Amino acid sequence: MFGKILIANRGEIALRILRACREMGIKTVAVHSTADTDAKYVKLADESVCIGPPASKDSYLNIPAIISAAEVTDSEAIHPGYGFLSENASFADRVEKSGFTFIGPRAESIVLMGDKVSAKQAMLQAGVPCVPGSEGELPEDPREIVKIARKVGYPVIIKAAGGGGGRGMRVVHTEAALINAVNMTRSEAGSAFNNPAVYLEKFLENPRHVEVQVLADEHGNAVWLGERDCSMQRRHQKVIEEAPAPGIPRRHIERIGERCADACRKIKYRGAGTFEFLYENNEFYFIEMNTRVQVEHPVTEMITGIDIVQEQLRIAAGLKLRFKQKEIQFRGHAIECRINAEDPFKFTPSPGPIKGWHPPGGPGIRVDSHVYAGYNVPPFYDSMIAKVISYGEDRAQAMARMRQALSELVVDGIKTNTALHRELLEDARFAEGGTSIHYLEQKLKARVS
Ligand code: ADP
Repeated sequence: MFGKILIANRGEIALRILRACREMGIKTVAVHSTADTDAKYVKLADESVCIGPPASKDSYLNIPAIISAAEVTDSEAIHPGYGFLSENASFADRVEKSGFTFIGPRAESIVLMGDKVSAKQAMLQAGVPCVPGSEGELPEDPREIVKIARKVGYPVIIKAAGGGGGRGMRVVHTEAALINAVNMTRSEAGSAFNNPAVYLEKFLENPRHVEVQVLADEHGNAVWLGERDCSMQRRHQKVIEEAPAPGIPRRHIERIGERCADACRKIKYRGAGTFEFLYENNEFYFIEMNTRVQVEHPVTEMITGIDIVQEQLRIAAGLKLRFKQKEIQFRGHAIECRINAEDPFKFTPSPGPIKGWHPPGGPGIRVDSHVYAGYNVPPFYDSMIAKVISYGEDRAQAMARMRQALSELVVDGIKTNTALHRELLEDARFAEGGTSIHYLEQKLKARVS
């Protein structure tokens, strides 16, 4: 196992990785921008290195600064967390070429999955079901595009091959709007992702977002750790996640889980990963694979008892997976609410100093957060300040505990979306389970008017 690793991230995930390391006796190096000098995990880390000014491009995305921080601290490996450089293949490559271990998949896997067109092709070949659509990138010829869309059937969604974070997508309902939408998505994708390639797929009207967590080692072993339902979304951003996905027959989950593990073996995947699917009319349709640890990984940890971050470290150190599929047991139900520093009605960011902080506790409650009373939420980064996770023997208990937890949570000084979470935990449709990815947006519209 590694003796010392560098954490190339910030916020709650930096603290999460640090905790996993400390438990395993691994020393940690925190890198940080000048905006994060006072962060809790920076103080808790064995060493810290300032890598630049607040802007992400000058610090958390500054590859040379991170590599030299690893060099001067004599770190053995680098954990990229999520976001920032976690899915940047050239970073993974630079890390390995500089003599460090990248705690994640091989750079080739990141390239393959980072391009949604090649990812989809690889998945089709591996027998993973995908959303019907264009075979690969859309051609230049508008007549060809029109033909493809007619064959797929409206509505369709135009997606950037290099897109991510819910950006670079456009829904088209009629042929009249098609070419304009393709051109606009292309030019946005060119400037935002440096890759103008776009593809087209059937727009599913009322799907759920259900994803499968996998772990794979470099010795050809792969397992799936169950699924998560992340359908509660606003602007394609997840707000609440839960595991297992309510109401989906276990045999469907087992079938898709096996396909995902099998795909990992076929593409020689290494590390933790997530296969994201849309689920509609009892069918799974692959949309993309995330080649990193995800924000919502704790709900899976709660129902499996497996520490996903520690498994990432073991896999990166070249160890074999410690368990076989049949040894993985699912127990109970877990829910995660993402607490963001934002207005709960207008959703405008609300950075600034936190004056009071009272996190919830009690049986089955886990709070992953780097904040504290007196912490100043910087305006430069993602607005998520905490994840409240509840566990129960069943969904009803997990919900009851989450309601209780949200009623205890106090964040003074800035605005948070806690009020929205409280509303959602009282929502009759959510309580039933199985709402679609559009449910939250529809509910929000009704709330405003
Ligand atoms: P990103 O990488 O930006 O997260 P995804 O491909 O994962 O992009 O899609 C994000 C979200 O967009 C999905 O969770 C879903 O809400 C919506 N979406 C994507 N593809 C489709 C589709 N074919 N039909 C309906 N909704 C879609």
